Amino acid sequence: MLEKMDDRFDPEAVIEEFESLSRDAGRVQRETLQKILDENGETEYLQGWGLNGRTDPDSFNDCVPIVSHSDLEPYIQRIADGNSPCCLTGKPITTISLSSGTTQGKPKFVPFNDELMESTMQIYKTSFAYRNREYPIGNGKALQFIYSSKQFKTKGGLAAGTATTNVYRNAQFKKTMRAMQTPCCSPDEVIFGPDFHQSLYCHLLCGLIFRDEVQVVSSTFAHSIVHAFRTFEQIWEELVTDIREGTLSSCITVPPIRAAMAKLLEPDPELADTVYSKISGLSNWYGLIQELFPSTKYIYGIMTGSMEPYLKKLRHYAGELPLLSADYGSSEGWIGANVNPKLTPEVATFAVLPNIGYFEFIPLREDLNRQGQEAKPVGLTDVKTGEEYEILVTNFAGLYRYRLGDVVKVKGFHNSTPELQFICRRNLLLTINIDKNTEKDLQLAVEAAAQLLAGEKLEVVDFTSRVDLSMDPGHYVVFWEISGDPQDELLQECCNCLDRSFVDAGYLSSRKVRAIGALELRILRKGTFHKILDHYVGLGAAVSQFKTPRCVGPANNTVLQILSVNASRSYFSTAY
Ligand code: AMP
Repeated sequence: MLEKMDDRFDPEAVIEEFESLSRDAGRVQRETLQKILDENGETEYLQGWGLNGRTDPDSFNDCVPIVSHSDLEPYIQRIADGNSPCCLTGKPITTISLSSGTTQGKPKFVPFNDELMESTMQIYKTSFAYRNREYPIGNGKALQFIYSSKQFKTKGGLAAGTATTNVYRNAQFKKTMRAMQTPCCSPDEVIFGPDFHQSLYCHLLCGLIFRDEVQVVSSTFAHSIVHAFRTFEQIWEELVTDIREGTLSSCITVPPIRAAMAKLLEPDPELADTVYSKISGLSNWYGLIQELFPSTKYIYGIMTGSMEPYLKKLRHYAGELPLLSADYGSSEGWIGANVNPKLTPEVATFAVLPNIGYFEFIPLREDLNRQGQEAKPVGLTDVKTGEEYEILVTNFAGLYRYRLGDVVKVKGFHNSTPELQFICRRNLLLTINIDKNTEKDLQLAVEAAAQLLAGEKLEVVDFTSRVDLSMDPGHYVVFWEISGDPQDELLQECCNCLDRSFVDAGYLSSRKVRAIGALELRILRKGTFHKILDHYVGLGAAVSQFKTPRCVGPANNTVLQILSVNASRSYFSTAY
């Protein structure tokens, strides 16, 4: 039904469809599993688990094991090498996505196909329909900070790129954006440019050229928006000169980008004066986005999970504009849409679309996970409000009972489908002995300590961490890049505050008996996180999907090296 709406997109019909799917989520899940198994039951992978044509959830759960990416890697590699395109799916896989693989420092291959593309559009349309009820937009454009990754061919000749790149390249994407009245104001040459610094420059320039038409400022992950406006602070004068003179800065060297931008640029001193005066009227860049793009209705992008640390800066740039948090998914497939756009990003939830995959949830309550044994997964409609789970995905692209690695909390239900809050990555743990601190714990500790900088009008630009076991006992190292240069005393206080803010009982007791050494705060030179971003982009990651690694594993040598070379000062906690 949804495919037919591409040209005449009726948000109310999309809402009606989602309401109906979510009212009967249990039945839709069973039918979805059946469809997946009907399409793919004959594959080498599923044949190997002895389903013998059965497609019911009980047989599926009994026969097919829970897996991680590493279990499926040999199959995916064979697909990529062109040896067995159908070992996971009935229809051959012809495209590979690179997921970010942030912690391990190495992107992972996952299969991509038309069904994933379709579910991506279904998610986009569903959340847009609900969003548009609360924040209607007219005809206009979106300033989208989206970038393509490098695309390449695998050994077997399959196209490979990040999932977002596969989506942006698909004709369906543009059609859907037009149908949602938010075509991107930048030409394709900018989105698919080979150098993201140049693409970013031109995105900003296009935004200014179409400043009155921009209705929405967005990106996949909020980091890209903050990164864009931090860059704007540095380069705005050059942008204004380009507009005034109608010529493109010589720092843009990619010929197709220059050609595409030449079609948009003409001398416009009036616009240059307006932009200049808007910027001059700002205090410390507060409300920059609102001033630059006066027709903007909201700012949109994923703002939850590892994006939360950028919210403060984003709010600063946004002024009074609402921040609307985008949907929940991954390169492996989408999960839920934000159908409550009025919730602030801190409490945003995602209603699971029960027809895009078959979802299971491993309860994480400690009493259910005794003696190293994991609790049994429960179905989509059997989850309980208030409980945390690890999510398992079975989809139309060859993943069966696949650990996505994310921890979610059920906040309630939309009809009978759960509304999930993203909590953290399950494996992102700072741990030395009995202590366990997640990405969220680190974020809270950094937030608490960064408060101490606020009095000096300084901020933590970005942060990460690692466990240092080179000395006995081991200790946590937290790395900060700061917007200015605070005094040693203040940083020592921040370091103590960080140490005290990890309140996990295992950490606390270990610190008290010195089974864990004093927390170390290392200050990084300006631009270090840009170097980390450049490193990931060089590996084939897309800026669109970039997430700063919050905990750097011991195997991630290059990032550890960048951190070590760029550390300028170091403090050890005296809190215990
Ligand atoms: P990628 O590997 O680039 O496909 O990123 C997928 C991962 O990004 C997910 O497994 C989550 O950990 C994270 N992610 C995606 N959407 C959200 C969201 N709405 N909130 C928080 N984290 C998200």
